[in-house]
Amino acid sequence: MVRFPKTSASKLGGLLILTYLCGGPLWSSAQTLTDKFEQLMFSRDKEKQGAIDYAGHSHNDYWQSQPFYTAYYAGMESIEADIFLRNGKLMVAHDAKEIKTENTLNTLYLDPVAKLYRKNGGTAFADKAKKLQLLIDVKENYKQVLPVLVKALEQYGDLFNPLKNTNAVKVIVTGGRPKPGGFKDYPKWLFFDGEVNWNYDAASLAQTGLISADLKDYTDWNGKGLPENIPAIKQAIAKADSLGLRFRFYGTHDSPNAWQQLINLGVYWVNTDHPKTLELFLDQRERSSFQLAKSQSVYTPSFRYDGQDRKVKRILLLIGDGMGLAAVKAAALANGGILNMTQIKMVGLLQTEALNSDNTDSAAGGSAIAVGQKVNNRAIAVDTNGKPLPSVAAVLADQGWKTGAISIGDVTDATPAVFYAHQQERNESEAILGQFQHSTMDFILGGKPDWLEKKKDWKGYTGVSIAKDQINQSEGKQIVFLSDELLKPVKDGRPAVLKQSMLDGIKFLSRDSKPFFLMAESAQIDYAGHANDLNYSVMETLDFDKTIEEALRLADQDPEVLVIVTADHETGGLTLLDSDRKSGRVMVNFSSNDHTNAFVPVFAYGARSFLFRGVYDNTAIFHKLLEAVK
Ligand SMILES: [Zn+2]
Repeated sequence: MVRFPKTSASKLGGLLILTYLCGGPLWSSAQTLTDKFEQLMFSRDKEKQGAIDYAGHSHNDYWQSQPFYTAYYAGMESIEADIFLRNGKLMVAHDAKEIKTENTLNTLYLDPVAKLYRKNGGTAFADKAKKLQLLIDVKENYKQVLPVLVKALEQYGDLFNPLKNTNAVKVIVTGGRPKPGGFKDYPKWLFFDGEVNWNYDAASLAQTGLISADLKDYTDWNGKGLPENIPAIKQAIAKADSLGLRFRFYGTHDSPNAWQQLINLGVYWVNTDHPKTLELFLDQRERSSFQLAKSQSVYTPSFRYDGQDRKVKRILLLIGDGMGLAAVKAAALANGGILNMTQIKMVGLLQTEALNSDNTDSAAGGSAIAVGQKVNNRAIAVDTNGKPLPSVAAVLADQGWKTGAISIGDVTDATPAVFYAHQQERNESEAILGQFQHSTMDFILGGKPDWLEKKKDWKGYTGVSIAKDQINQSEGKQIVFLSDELLKPVKDGRPAVLKQSMLDGIKFLSRDSKPFFLMAESAQIDYAGHANDLNYSVMETLDFDKTIEEALRLADQDPEVLVIVTADHETGGLTLLDSDRKSGRVMVNFSSNDHTNAFVPVFAYGARSFLFRGVYDNTAIFHKLLEAVK
């Protein structure tokens, strides 16, 4: 059953009550403290300036395959050793039965610390910003053990003495230990683990290294979702905060969700028996957490013509490369819970397998959408024999449609290429671009391939004009190269070039009132997935969503428009761990740095959008588009 810890201000020492009442900083009225103690004390506000307000604690460290070293190299800044006194020696073991003569505190912990300290030129970690503390859990007879411990530590000069050495490794006694009144019986450089309900005076507080509590005393939480009794948990952490001390819960669940929830509540020391897993989690946390500074407005579609059974004469196919369902949801959560695309009612799920592999690349994924047949990975709209397969753009061009393709990647990248070229190998960029001349496509727009940058004598192609940054509305068939400035990630300041290019492309293709097909690709959602960079992913997806907004506006004015929003595959194996829509904060986990076989969405809006409901293969898009124009 849940027990609530009894905490009340009246149980604290008079000094603390005074400072509580004054509301000022603890030490301003703590006249008795020396400057040295003041230097030693942690101030949470000071730590928060460094923005990192959590670190790992290796609990039950003795059970690691390499005690101390496993946790140390996993970057844990707090490591716990259980000790017994046997024949005058400090032995490391969790249980008296496990004691082995070779496993002394010196050999397993103190000597390795000293060795690494020397190796790093006088700091515990090579990264000088990181500090190390050892928690020594005294399993029995602390009155006999502590004098031996003090003596053992003194053998290492000032390595464990923060009073003399600002880079010292702090030693904190936990388990068997005196109450605060007894701290003064030990050297001032030896610290003790505090409890929430203990009373401290200024001197004992100066010898308190952290505050620990058993989470099971506060909640019977199963580690999933949010813990129960959050107010009691917050109160305990606030008590430590008010004392200027860092907080640790033991008896916690050892999982990413539990770690995250406790960090959210303000726990500093993340307690774990799995330091390597925690290291991965904490390392990824920065790239995997994102908060959108300001949400972007969304358009409310009228649904005026949506789903009407009318022959489609204008198609906008919008492809978010690598945009799986979780990428859409992450962007929606960052944006307060809503996007333009998430308002669309006609929705399908796309299966993205390639011909020769269940995990597709952009070449096979894009080809399947473009030509209606499965092809091998790396193939650009050709079958296994290299035979060209006509794309939906080519089929429609043969029926008199105008066609174009846009990408915020390179013009010869797989996604645009599958609509106008045919190659067995997607890397044949020069051959791919050369095929545009003979294709029936009216324009392509995107980044310039690398080989072209180096080719000083490039003459272009007969009958094809080359434009820079935007479509030349008065020219015919053309290639538009975007300058580097217009291709950088949105998070680095790219303007809304995808949206503008789509609008320019629509204007260009509808010049002589013919039907048109336009593909526009948001290429960098895929790059963000490969980089496991959530900020990148959300900002690219929001940029894509602004482009989608313009497509929806058009479909609300024009009953013959069909808008399809989909993806060629998922990238990054994204899952959503935690979020807060109100503040736009999202936390995710990337399980891969590559493409996965997760479902991707199909959002359809406008004429005959109903054709795109259901669960189907990527090849079906081609056939559904041709059905929509019949
Ligand atoms: Zn990719």
